[in-house]
Amino acid sequence: MSGMGSLPARRRDEESDWHDLVPANCPHCSCEFFVAKDDAEIVWDPGHAWDEDCTDRDCHCHVEPVVGARRAGEHDAG
Ligand SMILES: [Zn+2]
Repeated sequence: MSGMGSLPARRRDEESDWHDLVPANCPHCSCEFFVAKDDAEIVWDPGHAWDEDCTDRDCHCHVEPVVGARRAGEHDAG
């Protein structure tokens, strides 16, 4: 028995391909989101599932969540 207590974190992207996930923290609001292990450009944002210590509930990862897709652009709107 390998005794792994947690399910492997896997999700499908918008094309229904499965990816292993790696957790990351949003640099803007500190909430956790996920990145595809095999393609760091594909992300799953938390949407309305913000953390208790979220610093910005109006962050793009909450108001415009990217789910199993590539971010349109990483540049701040200004
Ligand atoms: Zn955020």
